[in-house]
Amino acid sequence: MPTYAYRCRECTETFEVNRPMSESAAPATCPEGHADTVKLLTTVALTGAAGAPATGGCCGGACGCAN
Ligand SMILES: [Zn+2]
Repeated sequence: MPTYAYRCRECTETFEVNRPMSESAAPATCPEGHADTVKLLTTVALTGAAGAPATGGCCGGACGCAN
């Protein structure tokens, strides 16, 4: 199940919620009980789709360049 990050505009708390993708747009309540929250970038979408490999070298080792 994807993890979605939200930030509360009342207490500025950032929190994460595990919920189905179909409910990603649904309102989330912060741990303090505030309903005025905004959805942040999805952490799941960022991992694995960030483009360049995190490791060094020209290709992260995929081309055999010994980096
Ligand atoms: Zn709050």
